[in-house]
Amino acid sequence: MSDCLFCKIANGDTPCNKVYEDEDFLAFHDIHPKAPTHVLVIPKFHLPTLADATEQDVALLGLMMDRVRHIADKELHLDAGYRVVINVREGGGQEVFHIHTHILGGKKLPF
Ligand code: IMP
Repeated sequence: MSDCLFCKIANGDTPCNKVYEDEDFLAFHDIHPKAPTHVLVIPKFHLPTLADATEQDVALLGLMMDRVRHIADKELHLDAGYRVVINVREGGGQEVFHIHTHILGGKKLPF
């Protein structure tokens, strides 16, 4: 989508601090980190929010979790553990309406 910030990051029109990229996913550092390590994993495909996902998106969602695991382990080396967050719609704290997974780590996180 032309007015979507994360689509612009995914297609290279807007810069990011990239951690990982493959054909379908991109991961980059959050500009306002809430933990010592705070990375966002996005699909290159535009899906606004988890609440809009359908059965057709099941494979994409599964692959995103697999990439999260891979990135946390192989790229970020969060061996002590990490938190995975998906904010859903305004009530869930979602600000950017292109589905993304937060990876937070680098310290013991409070509840
Ligand atoms: P949400 O609240 O789950 O939608 O998360 C959106 C996240 O995107 C927030 O943590 C923002 O700090 C982050 N963010 C917004 N704009 C940018 C950017 O241009 N680069 C990297 N992160 C961004």
